[in-house]
Amino acid sequence: MSTKIAFIGLGHMGCPMAANLMKAGYEVSGFDVAPAAIEAATALGIPIAESAGSAAADADIVITMLQTGDQVMRVYNGTDEVKGLLGAARPGTLFIDSSTIAVDDARRAAQLAYDAGHRAMDAPVSGGVVGAEAATLAFMVGGSDEDFAVAEPVLQTMGKRVVHCGESGLGQAAKVCNNLILGISMIGVSEAFVLGERLGLSHQALFDVASNASGQCWALTTNCPVPGPVPTSPANRDYQPGFAAALMAKDLGLAARALESTGVHAEIGMLANELYQRFAESGGADTDFSGIINSIRDQSEKGAA
Ligand code: NAD
Repeated sequence: MSTKIAFIGLGHMGCPMAANLMKAGYEVSGFDVAPAAIEAATALGIPIAESAGSAAADADIVITMLQTGDQVMRVYNGTDEVKGLLGAARPGTLFIDSSTIAVDDARRAAQLAYDAGHRAMDAPVSGGVVGAEAATLAFMVGGSDEDFAVAEPVLQTMGKRVVHCGESGLGQAAKVCNNLILGISMIGVSEAFVLGERLGLSHQALFDVASNASGQCWALTTNCPVPGPVPTSPANRDYQPGFAAALMAKDLGLAARALESTGVHAEIGMLANELYQRFAESGGADTDFSGIINSIRDQSEKGAA
């Protein structure tokens, strides 16, 4: 008998992920509250349940791919009108939340699942919509060894790398730490390119040096914020994402929350969060996060005027 998977949240990421599970032979039942998401999923042949609860009722595994921790809590617990996933699922169902949410929320969600007699893992991803479509996502997973053994082959069908980071919440911890590095390094690379411009250094010359020297990093060599040196980077297509600045702002907001709650003295991380919130709020939200270079250049021009 094939494994039955309920997939809740069929948005940009969830829809192609659910489609890849079906391609791998899993029996999938999907649900989303947005008509457009249901339409897109139906077009890919994903069966749609009447409600999240009915998708979960006979599932072995429930995967959620939602926007926020509040949404995860609401779908897990239900509301006065709508039965929650935890109440609808059979005891012992494995809950995998792949949404990017706060570490504390992930731990709370897992505890709610355990208290209801289920199993739970946090398994956020990196790799974006392209990775979701190509089944090349990286999964960062938190939960017990026993549950990881069940989840791993399922996650492998949607990704190319699945790392067990430790107990509940540590998948989200890995995600937030990685994106803190990414946000900070993109600002650093962007500031260096604008400084290079001011000093008369060509983009290509700076790239050729830094990409082979100690400045080398993903923000430079894969997602280079200036057009030219890396033809596939979003800068070459007017900063169409890629990884939208709104999502970077969201992830750095989660990082700032985690930095505060753990008491880490992280001045650059907190400042990177502020800069990305400002960039997203002032029109950059839907552009690639590397577009922050334009804001740095604009600010520099204002400063010079
Ligand atoms: P999205 O907004 O496209 O999809 C989320 C879906 O959840 C929406 O279709 C929404 O209608 C649905 N939803 C909300 N409440 C619901 C409910 N109560 N019941 C059923 N469905 C509900 O978002 P996305 O881009 O697919 O991202 C999903 C998660 O993955 C986010 O946490 C995001 O931060 C993370 N993520 C996204 C990317 C990316 O590039 N898009 C990359 C890595 C991680």
